[in-house]
Amino acid sequence: MRKQIKHYINGEWVESTGSETIDVINPATEEVMGKISSGTEEDLDKAVKAARAAFPAFSRSTKEERIQWLNNIVEGYEKRKEEFIDVMTDELGSPLTVSEEVHYPMGLGHFKQAVDSLAEFSFSEDRGGHTLLKESIGVSGLITPWNFPTNQASTKIASAIAAGSPVILKPASKTPFAAMMLAEIIDEAGLPKGAFNLVNGSGSDIGNGISSHPGIDFVSFTGSGAVGEKIMKNGAETIKKVALELGGKSPIVVLGDADVKDAAKTALSNMMTNTGQVCSAGTRVFIPQSMKQSFEEMILDLLPTFPVGDPWKEGIATGPLVSEDQWDTVQSYIEKGKKEATLLVGGTGKPEGLDTGYYAKPTIFTDVSNDSVIAQEEIFGPVTTIITYDDLEDAIEMANDNVYGLAGYVVGKDPETLRYVASNIRAGRIKVNGAETDFNGPFGGYKQSGIGREWGDFGIEEYLEIKSVHGMPK
Ligand code: NAD
Repeated sequence: MRKQIKHYINGEWVESTGSETIDVINPATEEVMGKISSGTEEDLDKAVKAARAAFPAFSRSTKEERIQWLNNIVEGYEKRKEEFIDVMTDELGSPLTVSEEVHYPMGLGHFKQAVDSLAEFSFSEDRGGHTLLKESIGVSGLITPWNFPTNQASTKIASAIAAGSPVILKPASKTPFAAMMLAEIIDEAGLPKGAFNLVNGSGSDIGNGISSHPGIDFVSFTGSGAVGEKIMKNGAETIKKVALELGGKSPIVVLGDADVKDAAKTALSNMMTNTGQVCSAGTRVFIPQSMKQSFEEMILDLLPTFPVGDPWKEGIATGPLVSEDQWDTVQSYIEKGKKEATLLVGGTGKPEGLDTGYYAKPTIFTDVSNDSVIAQEEIFGPVTTIITYDDLEDAIEMANDNVYGLAGYVVGKDPETLRYVASNIRAGRIKVNGAETDFNGPFGGYKQSGIGREWGDFGIEEYLEIKSVHGMPK
């Protein structure tokens, strides 16, 4: 049982001013695995005060100092690899291999990338008639979701340090312990007191407090659209800059010349990785009508290569959903899907032999209409939809006919067609034929998937203000 009830404020771990705690549940056992503090307004005020006090010196720190701090964090992060893997497997229910091969390197990758991006970054530029300066935006409030416990926090923290912006992080209360490990690593990295603060608590108290706090200049939020909307409204009262990384319902467009096995593998890895709890998951699979039967056969053949089960067991690819609420939501979408489309495999209830833990059955719907609820709304579980198309323009139109625009995927052979589809899907990140992730590639959404971009140099820009100086002495 982890009991980590302190907040990290002004360079030290401090008791909360309140006495309430929040239980953290292990989703594979349904048991309480730890407790954190439910922070108070007073805790948040203290953190904001510390960050504001740190601002003048931190915002004027040199590139070299920031690179050193980031490198120290990289070193500390690498030293605690095994512990990160264990913590994320415990709190998120992520299988050991996924914790090791997806979560661990993603969190680390952002700090390494920030070092590289910062080395190349220019904070001033002579533009002829004026000099352009890029300066720290002020104090930033960071609010993160539970589905990628280190990735989401790391990309925000790394960019903020690179820009010289002091932060207050509120991690998701369902998966707070990996973020608290990050705080321990940052504690040893030599940052000035108050440059990094972590206050645990509920969204309605600390999250809401961050978005409305007059001492916070910028809020970087990752989470649901419903909460994103509240943050924008709150932020408006003090004219805060707000960056939102929200949900998605991303398309996978399979071209007529695609290898059916490649297409089925892409669809399955999008559906099953992190138990489908991925904002950029491709969960609308558009296939040519002529490929329908072979694609369905192939996806059913390959589904057993993603075994569902105890995240601590060897060979398991997909663990439980994060919580009972999430399990209920996924069940209700599967119920809806049964009325709207043909159930190819899966359905409601738990997989055989997995009665304890929030396990869901991998579920594939076919004969899906793009305007149905299961094709339009984010489910956030191991559920996908197969939609057929007659010609490519029809596929592109359907791919774009959704309120979201976070990501898109194209599978096929002809380079010109691949380029055409990649260019015409309205989304912030496209992957062609399962390409590797580049940590310098901006990440963020079109339409209701958000506002702003994270990762790499674009991520650093989020934490900066632009100043033009006219008549700057040379
Ligand atoms: P959520 O919106 O419920 O919670 C996200 C964070 O906001 C949590 O820390 C929560 O405590 C906090 N919060 C809750 N109410 C708040 C309020 N009123 N004011 C301020 N903060 C509040 O989302 P979730 O369930 O944790 O995460 C799932 C969602 O996140 C999905 O929609 C997913 O697509 C999205 N997501 C997006 C990205 C991206 O990069 N675009 C990445 C991961 C997840």
